[in-house]
Amino acid sequence: MTAPATDKTPSDPHQLGESINYERFLDCVHCGLCTAACPTYLETGDENNSPRGRIYLMRAVTDGRLELTDKVRGHLDLCLDCRSCESACPSGVQYGRLIEPFRVEVQQQDVRLGRRAPDGWFQRWILYGMFPYAGRTRLALFPAKIAQVLGLDRLADKLGLTKLLPEKLQRMHRLLPKLQPRGPSLPEVLPAIGPKRAKVALFTGCVADAMFHHVHWATARVLQLNGCEVVIPKSQVCCAAIHYHSGAGAPAMQFAKSNISAFPDDLDAIIVNVAGCGSMLKDYGHMAEELAPGQPELHSQFNRFAGRIKDVSEFLAELGPIAPKGEVRLKATYHDACHLCHAQKIREQPRQLLNLVPGLELIPLAESEICCGAAGSYNLTQGEMADRLGERKLQNILATGAKVLISANTGCTLQIAAILRDGGHDIQVLHPMEILDRSYRGGDSGK
Ligand code: SF4
Ligand code: SF4
Repeated sequence: MTAPATDKTPSDPHQLGESINYERFLDCVHCGLCTAACPTYLETGDENNSPRGRIYLMRAVTDGRLELTDKVRGHLDLCLDCRSCESACPSGVQYGRLIEPFRVEVQQQDVRLGRRAPDGWFQRWILYGMFPYAGRTRLALFPAKIAQVLGLDRLADKLGLTKLLPEKLQRMHRLLPKLQPRGPSLPEVLPAIGPKRAKVALFTGCVADAMFHHVHWATARVLQLNGCEVVIPKSQVCCAAIHYHSGAGAPAMQFAKSNISAFPDDLDAIIVNVAGCGSMLKDYGHMAEELAPGQPELHSQFNRFAGRIKDVSEFLAELGPIAPKGEVRLKATYHDACHLCHAQKIREQPRQLLNLVPGLELIPLAESEICCGAAGSYNLTQGEMADRLGERKLQNILATGAKVLISANTGCTLQIAAILRDGGHDIQVLHPMEILDRSYRGGDSGK
């Protein structure tokens, strides 16, 4: 079925929603079973902020029955794209395949109609100009690192100087973790330790590489100790999630093409340790179909690449992990990153790996699959809702009594660590690979 004929905006020859397969709207039978899983509905109780409501709004705009007013746009912008609704939906609605292309089209319409985006400077200089480039982000973080060492950041906070910054920069300052020494750069190849079982590549990304290079090292060591030769191509770039999820289709395609040519063919898998990047890379095929329609060869090239992507826990669970021996005596709880549990359906594998670690006590976290409010750059652009969801996550974490929160996604780690810091709670946030690495290296009694 195709979309009904509609009156088009007189100043714009394109109808919003035209890149969406209309059947996907019709998959929704309006049962409402997704509403209890939707963080923004849970917080507001407003049907327009629920999956069902948003599908209705997008379909009505696509049909030409509803104008994309600021109010309608507000309901759609408030969506975290966490895809919790996909996990809850019994009809198999692919919500991400609706909201993501819809956002791309809205952004393209803004450009065509010469509308100034409300976050123009922030998008241009920070979101698009800095975050997707690990080197630029590292450079920008250097003064922050010096300020942290000298205690100037705390002084600026005390004197209220940071309140003079624009709101989004204030939020960035708040999210900034205690920056760890970067250590040496990863080489291009790390050999397998013990009998070789696989040859893999490690995807390093942008913000994750700039802020959590030590997690990449931990991941590489865990892979080596599991018999993997690890290749780290220097020409790889940002996964494109920052651009794609904010509607900038053309640069997103460019990043994807660069990544496709950066990784060699003779690999068993391309390993990702950041849930958001893994989900984006696995979605390259869909992205190409939406952004470059009518190019079947390109679609199969993108789909082939997407098929080679594995989250590190998914890969190790399939490979059969070598059990680590070192005792790590920690009381911890595991937060399910939306882009791991909802988008990639990976729930058990990280827990299975963590359960191999001697001494680690893993306490279940209530509402573990409800978004923490990070959602890519959402906590910078939708501050109020991000704070409400952050507070909700905080209360659930505190109820466990855990001393460590385990997160497999950079955005969640930054968001949750900031909330814990703000509340003065002495709870560390670690990646599952940091805990495994610690155990492989001898645990509490090791290095
Ligand atoms: S998205 Fe799925 S669960 Fe939600 S109303 Fe539609 S069919 Fe029901
Ligand atoms: S993606 Fe998340 S926030 Fe958006 S409608 Fe679905 S559950 Fe709600």
